[in-house]
Amino acid sequence: MSKKRIALLGATGSIGTQALEVVQAYPERFDIQVLTAATNAELLVQQARTFRPRVVVIADESKYLGVKNALRDIPVTVLAGEAALEEVVRDGAIDLVISALVGSAGLRPTVAAIRAGKDIALANKETLVVAGQLVMELVQKHGVNLLPVDSEHSAIFQCMVGEAGATVDKIYLTASGGPFRGKNREYLTSVSCEQALRHPNWVMGAKITIDSATLMNKGLEVIEAKWLFGLQARQIDVVVHPQSIVHSLVQFADGSIKAQLGLPDMKLPIQYALTYPDRVENNFKRFNFVDFPELTFERPDTVAFRNLALAYQAMEAGGNMPCILNAANEVVVAAFLKGNVGFLQMSDIIEETMQRAVHMAAATLDDYMETDRKSREIAVELVTKAKNLYHIAK
Ligand code: NDP
Repeated sequence: MSKKRIALLGATGSIGTQALEVVQAYPERFDIQVLTAATNAELLVQQARTFRPRVVVIADESKYLGVKNALRDIPVTVLAGEAALEEVVRDGAIDLVISALVGSAGLRPTVAAIRAGKDIALANKETLVVAGQLVMELVQKHGVNLLPVDSEHSAIFQCMVGEAGATVDKIYLTASGGPFRGKNREYLTSVSCEQALRHPNWVMGAKITIDSATLMNKGLEVIEAKWLFGLQARQIDVVVHPQSIVHSLVQFADGSIKAQLGLPDMKLPIQYALTYPDRVENNFKRFNFVDFPELTFERPDTVAFRNLALAYQAMEAGGNMPCILNAANEVVVAAFLKGNVGFLQMSDIIEETMQRAVHMAAATLDDYMETDRKSREIAVELVTKAKNLYHIAK
């Protein structure tokens, strides 16, 4: 068996480091060719020493010399800057690109990789949220595999294996409900960033953890699912399942439902995306029904957690609206993490940005980049206004 040659975008993040654990467990299957980071030079250098890639990229150009010097005794090419991310994925010696950057920064490198005919293991859901139609058309055109890493989408994907001829009635994406499940708007007015970062079941990067607390993560996943599985909005339902054991479900035309279950551990969906179509033995902790005598399900509360409803609205509006939603969300999450806006203000700013940004029914890659830029400008302006009010109220 020849080794799968991998470029890992976002190696220093939560998904990136777990992907490297999976790779390390199967040295006979995988070969790391490229590792990239934004600013975490120290970890990138450490990873380069362990995995010996041919190329590393540090997106933050001010860190270039530090990385270059730290790796001068090993044969590795060091590149810097965002543009280098698009360059490295085109390398002829790469079979699969793991897209594990966070935010819309993942779009261009992922598109470049698809255009170069590489298979993609996709964690960066923002790529499909921002430009789902364009990305799926490119996937078709270049005949590449787009393998989901997100646990819910991996679950749906696994349920679909062997069902090529079957009609899907609908899918159910499960959501843990986050740290504020069951809380009302009054309570949410004063919740802190530290509270929002305490996810009950998953340890993840800061952005997705806040998105999980606001239910925007589920909203982004609904849009991601629409594109990945070619579904209509009415075919995608969200159900809150606090135990995070049932990772998602598919209901077929005959009413039969298939689900994928397991302990909440991202290494499993990462491994499946890397080894697909094989299932490979591992030593991950096994799920035991006795430890979870109750698996419960409830409806999401879209009155308290408006982001999920906003994401459905953006999906129905189509065109560049999900891109506007995503850009505004990235701005408000960064502001919330800095303590500049309150929890509920995030939805207000996203909604107003959706109203103020120019909606286009169809968009090119450049249109999406421009929409992203302009929507961020609007959201930043709204954050500045909200920040003053928020600090006065505090
Ligand atoms: P992290 O914030 O932990 O990691 C992000 C990675 O991307 C880091 O390597 C970071 O580098 C790099 N990065 C960030 N911004 C840029 C940029 N502008 N240019 C280049 N590189 C950049 O995120 P996660 O691993 O949590 O999430 C990654 C993606 O996977 C997200 O889209 C998320 O929604 C999705 N996902 C994550 C899950 C999880 O369990 N974490 C579960 C399912 C999906 P540096 O470290 O140097 O900052």
